[in-house]
This record gives sequence, structure tokens and C-alpha cells, in this order.
Amino acid sequence: MVLEITREIESALTPNALRVLEKRYLRRDRNGRITETPEQMFRRVARFVAQAEKQYRPEVEVDTIADEFYRAMASLEFLPNSPTLLNAGTETGQLSSCFVLPVPDSLEETFDAVKYTAMIHKSGGGIGFNVSHIRPTGSAVGEHFDAAGGPVALIHVFAGAADYIRQGGVRRGCNSVVMSVSHPDILHFINAKSNPSLLTNFYNSVSVTDDFMDKVRSGDDYCLIDPNTGRAVGSLNASAVFKRIVDQAWSTGDPGLVFIDRINRDNPTPSLGRLETITGCGEQALLPYESCNLGSINLAAMLKEKGGTLSIDFNKLARLIPIAVRFLDNVIDVNKFPVPVIERTTRLTRKIGLGVMGFADMLIQLGVSYNSTKAITMAEEIMEFISERAKEASYNLALERGVFPAWSGSIYEKRGLPMRNASCTTIAPTGTISIIAGVSSGIEPIFAAVFVRNILDGENLLEINPYFERIARERGFYSRELIEQLVTSNHLHSRKEVPEDVRKIFVTAHRVSPEWHVRIQAAFQRHIDNAVSKTVNFPKSASREDIARVFMMAWEWGLKGITVYRDRSRQSQPLCINEIG
Ligand code: UDP
Repeated sequence: MVLEITREIESALTPNALRVLEKRYLRRDRNGRITETPEQMFRRVARFVAQAEKQYRPEVEVDTIADEFYRAMASLEFLPNSPTLLNAGTETGQLSSCFVLPVPDSLEETFDAVKYTAMIHKSGGGIGFNVSHIRPTGSAVGEHFDAAGGPVALIHVFAGAADYIRQGGVRRGCNSVVMSVSHPDILHFINAKSNPSLLTNFYNSVSVTDDFMDKVRSGDDYCLIDPNTGRAVGSLNASAVFKRIVDQAWSTGDPGLVFIDRINRDNPTPSLGRLETITGCGEQALLPYESCNLGSINLAAMLKEKGGTLSIDFNKLARLIPIAVRFLDNVIDVNKFPVPVIERTTRLTRKIGLGVMGFADMLIQLGVSYNSTKAITMAEEIMEFISERAKEASYNLALERGVFPAWSGSIYEKRGLPMRNASCTTIAPTGTISIIAGVSSGIEPIFAAVFVRNILDGENLLEINPYFERIARERGFYSRELIEQLVTSNHLHSRKEVPEDVRKIFVTAHRVSPEWHVRIQAAFQRHIDNAVSKTVNFPKSASREDIARVFMMAWEWGLKGITVYRDRSRQSQPLCINEIG
């Protein structure tokens, strides 16, 4: 179908963005015919989210606020997470990406969680589970000895439910499962995905304490604790378990690590309990039944030109951040939560996750290589600015609307700082919204200058990085032959016709060393309340020691979690290129 698009966004949306919008996001009638344009989609979302203003400021013109929200989205400078774009103003009405469900050691409550899983997935959200409270395999159940199926068997129950539900027919739910390293079934959990065709869309992570990591270094043993009794039931050698984790991560990319003490040092509401797990793609630690809605600022659109030189437009950012924070806070009020307990829990802390996308595209425009100290400095400078301004916006909303209900007892009460949201910032993967914005995802380096993106049930889309195309044409090395060869082999770094400075700027994910991936992730993490979704890429030739070193480094540098991916260690990759050098 030919879409009618207004001039305003016509030039901004790439053909791939239009394809994704058409296929997934735009409303359809009963016969499956698309009934809205991208402009109407942004209007629908803006109007719906702006309605929340009425309950705080009856005198305010909702349309004026809706216009602000519309402009932020239609300019592709800020986009909320997919469920907000998909469901705002529709019957589904569920607007958040991230949920955490408790999995207690009770059959009844566990099967409640299975039901909630189905409901959350249907609405487009991803879920985090912590299975550490489930009694170990073979424990007694009632009067039956050796009857418990154990946590890994339970993950398969959730996976069965998840497979059955396709998210509103548009995407599958991402699930993150965390198990404490001290659970007696930990070795079984570490191997749970040794067959990569099992538990697809379940990302497993081992939750490790600082004490465990210290023991990995010293080679000491640590205790296994039965969650049912709280008693030590055995011990394992920490470095041997760490090695098992590394072995599995090397061969399949799974499990990752979650640094649980680090996460809890940032827990804004310790009086409500410890944070035990992270959500879908690792970006958000939440309490049981909490949810969080995300939104990302497009950094590639936050530049200004003066005298032929580009620089970060901090004034533009400063104008956009309060709009984005207001938008995300409003979402909590107009959201239709899947179940009442999630609504109550989410509204207690009102966590939101403002982050960024297009970081790599911004660096390219500025002529800065991703793997450079300049990139680290810029990451820190931008994220510190966004974080401070987001907090200021949340403070102003607290003065206007009141503090979040669980503020008493929070870290903010101790500081005497009114806040509307218990946390403000998160780096999401932005897997789809970055395609809509036409920029590199989250804080990841570009995948390739030219590649075939494998999305939407096997459909392939050719993507040429727009900045690469422009530079190649301007500097006279653009040719059809070059593009064709880059599609089949990602060897930009060895193309002699491409000037060296261009090759350096267009450094791709596989050419960035794992250490640099971690350094960039750590630079962002220093200024993020929640966590940072990021994959640390390794070449196929990487050794197990390389992975072990990066896991250690991630802990030492204060990451909240780490996921690694060694090239071609999984059967299906979201992005495909033929050969990686
Ligand atoms: N998510 C999901 N299924 C998907 C993609 C994402 O459940 O296919 C959830 C998951 O919890 C993830 C979160 O959405 O952590 C945000 O992912 P992303 O930023 O990639 O989503 P987008 O808003 O770009 O669609």
C-alpha cells in the first residue's frame, strides 16, 4: 500500500521504517487494512498520553501538551517503547515494555505467574523472572520425597506458555531468567541452554554476589543454600563454577551474569525489598510485580552545525528531556496494566526509563571512532547531562504532582529531594524503535556499513548506513560494486578504495574489541539509574579466557550485568552478514 505521509515526516522516515510501521504498528480494520498514517499514529499516541494532564492541571490545554509530544515523536527525536506506539488509545492499552513477575515456591502462585506471563506477552511486554526461590530438583513435596521438578523444569513451563502466545501477533516476549549462584541446581541452570533450539527468547543469567566474585579470584569454595530451608547443603569451588559459566557463554552466548550487589547499591527503595532480577533484555532491575515504561532520545538528531562544524546541541537536549520525562510519567497514569497488582506496585514507585539510541550514528557524524577515548568522554558527558536534566524534570513534576507514593523510606527521602519517579534513566536495546528512527540501536556500534537486516518473520531488508552513503558519494568512492561486495562481506576495514579515516569512523561491532564494548557500557552505566542493555561482541576465534577476562572486567568496572555474543555461536542472528573479519 502507498502511505500518505505528511511532508513533516515524509523525508525523515526511511523505507525500512515505513515497512516496519506498516507491518506492525499502524492500526488496521477488521479486514486487516491499514487505517492510519504514521502521522496519525504519532497523533493517536500523543493525544492519549497527554490526557493524563487533566488529572493534575485541569486548566491546562491538553492539546498543547499533545502537540509537544507529537513534535517530539514525529521529528524522530524521541520515541517511546513499542507497546506505547502500538497500544496507546486502543482497546489493549498496555504501554510498558518491562515487567518482573515473582516466582515463589508455591504451585498456585507459580501458575498465577504463568497466567500473567501470557497476559503480558500478549500486550507486547518482556518479563524478568527469578527462579532462585524454587526448591531444588528432587526435594520433597508434601509427603512425597524426591518429587520436586526444580527450577529448570519450571522455566520450560513458562517457555511453553510464552511460545503459545505471540505478542498481539507482532512479536515474541523476551524473557530474562535469573538464578542465584548459590542455588543447589546452579550447574543444571548454567547448562539449561546448551541445546540452543531450546528456550529461545529466554535469556538466562547467573546472579553473582561480590563475595562470589572475590572467591573466583582467590579460588575458594562457596556454599550452596537450599532456598526452602535457608541451610547450606553443599559447596562448590567458585572458580570452577565461573569456568562452567564461561564455557557455556563461549559456546552459546548464554548465560550472562547479573551483579546483584551492584544492582542493590542503586536500589532507590530498599525499604520495599531487594532487587533480585532484571527484565527482558537486561536493562531494568525491578521489584516483583513492578513494570517500567521506556523511551529513548535519538542522539543522531541532537547535533548542531556552526561554521561547518558539528557539535552536540545541549540546548536542544535540554528542551527535549523534560518533555520526554513528562511523557513517560503520564504513561503510568493512562496505562492499562495487565493485572491490578502490577498497577498498584508500578504506581508506588513510578519508575521510568529514559535512554538514548543512535549513539554510534552521532559519533560517526562527529567523526569520532566508537573505540576511542573521545567516545568514552562523549558518552559520559551526554549521559550525565541527560541524567541530571531528567532528575530535575522529575523533581519539577514532584512539585506539580506530588512525590512517588513510596518516597518515604526511599534514598530520595534521605537526601530531602522530592522526586516523582524512583528511577529515571535506562538504556534500552531499542531493537525496533531505532529502525523507526532510522538510526543505530541503543549505544551499540554499527553492525556494518551495509548489511541485510533479517526482521519481521524472515523478511530481509537492505540497509546502507546513510552517513556512509553520503560520505562515499561526497568523496567519490561510492560504487554499486562496493555496496554489493560489502553486503556479501563485511570487510570495509580492508577496502583500499575507502580512505583510512572513513574506515576508522565506520568501525563495526565485530571490529570493536570486547574491552572497548565494556568501556562504553561502563561509561553509560555511571550515569544511569537502572541498567544498560548491551551485547559485548566477540569474534568467532575468541577464546574462553577472553570471555572470562571480560566477565571479570565487567564486574570490576561496575556494570550491573553482562551478556556476551561470540559470532555465529547461535543458529539465528538478528543481523546477518556473510563473513566477519
Ligand atoms: N521486548 C520483547 N519482545 C521483543 C522485543 C522487546 O518482549 O521482541 C521487550 C523486552 O522486555 C525488552 C524491551 O521490550 O527488554 C525493550 O526492547 P527494545 O528496546 O528492543 O524494544 P522496542 O521499543 O525498540 O520495540
